[in-house]
Amino acid sequence: MSRNETLFNRAQTVIPGGVNSPVRAFGSVGGFPRFIARAEGSRMWDADGAAYIDYVGSWGPAIAGHAHPAIVEAVREAALKGLSFGAPTEAEVEIAEELCAHLPSLDMVRLVSSGTEATMSAIRLARGFTGRDTIIKFEGCYHGHADCLLVKAGSGLLTFGNPSSGGVPDDFAKHTLVLDYNNPEQLEETFRAKGDSIAAVIVEPFAGNMNLIRPSDRFLHLLRQLCTAHGTVLIFDEVMTGLRVGPQGVQGLVGITPDLTTLGKVIGGGMPVGAFGGRRDIMEKIAPLGSVYQAGTLSGSPVAVAAGLASLKLIQAPGFYEALEARTVQLVEGLQAAAKRHGVTFCAQSFGGMFGLYFADALPQSFADVMASDRNRFNQFFHAMLDAGHYFAPSAFEAGFVSAAHTEADIDATIAAADRVFAGMAA
Ligand SMILES: *Cc1c(COP(=O)(O)O)cnc(C)c1O
Repeated sequence: MSRNETLFNRAQTVIPGGVNSPVRAFGSVGGFPRFIARAEGSRMWDADGAAYIDYVGSWGPAIAGHAHPAIVEAVREAALKGLSFGAPTEAEVEIAEELCAHLPSLDMVRLVSSGTEATMSAIRLARGFTGRDTIIKFEGCYHGHADCLLVKAGSGLLTFGNPSSGGVPDDFAKHTLVLDYNNPEQLEETFRAKGDSIAAVIVEPFAGNMNLIRPSDRFLHLLRQLCTAHGTVLIFDEVMTGLRVGPQGVQGLVGITPDLTTLGKVIGGGMPVGAFGGRRDIMEKIAPLGSVYQAGTLSGSPVAVAAGLASLKLIQAPGFYEALEARTVQLVEGLQAAAKRHGVTFCAQSFGGMFGLYFADALPQSFADVMASDRNRFNQFFHAMLDAGHYFAPSAFEAGFVSAAHTEADIDATIAAADRVFAGMAA
């Protein structure tokens, strides 16, 4: 038995499912997870010593590549000065200034330790600010695992949601309305009926947790208009997309300013950092200035913030995003050409350093489109690529990530492997 399998067996006796976050268990693709021993640049090595070119990047944070020397050195220096103080530090001020300078919507920002904490806090703040309870989310968008956000659509339009997880009381889910992503008509109808009772709309402005979907500009602009008209707080959840699709997030790309923005992943450079921020009049409702409570023993951890600041410095290098985007485009175009050569139904798209692969004949526009793509084909592709040393996300419903450490030769190697895999799938 391989060391990966031995470790998975050991893990399953003491950790539920053998993993500390569900998708890592390979449940969607079958087989056993690879236990990672180390990673550097574009590569990861597993417990059996197999090497992979990595297209997960710790699910987004590793935008500069794994174990970037500047980030590792910043962490080492910070750690030597003390791991945590429970008192403010200069580095927190610096990272807050950096984030406000990058994201057009941020007047003020507060740091937390995960994306989940960021969205949970942003929702509480929006409710406290508006004095309303109801929120809107969209089916297929993921916003972390706070109770009110683990909700799926109820039956029929304008009905309240049902919990999508055990342990969430119906009474909590009933304050969450779940609508179709990228459906402007339904959004308008909902606001016509209930607009003045809605505290917040939370949305992934490009959805990256049901594979990758770019919604229509009309949908995003309508969100902004309706929220403004009804005094509803518009929350862009850019935990994944912020500083990943470009230096200003999706809000910079599409030119829409939300009231609040949630961040995570890239801003921590691989360490646990999340953030939420936005309009000054809303952010001033947070304790200690206002009545909405929010806190964290390790919020603004000096070691995590040091990693975040080092990462933010790297992405500001001239040409960083141009190079990242060129690599990512090279990958999706190469994969599409290879699939076409072998007559495999496949398409792909990318934004900045983020991409989506679909075993379908057109780019998905909705959650239903994503669900209709060929999952068996994806799983076949995934395992064949993994065996060949190319590590894609172990699910057809996740986006992928390229880092600045991926070279043209890395991408060429992945495309060459995919060419052989597609040939096998066609046969
Ligand atoms: C990853 C993610 C979260 C949750 O962040 P965690 O750090 O895993 O809690 C929230 N929203 C979006 C859009 C994400 O991609």
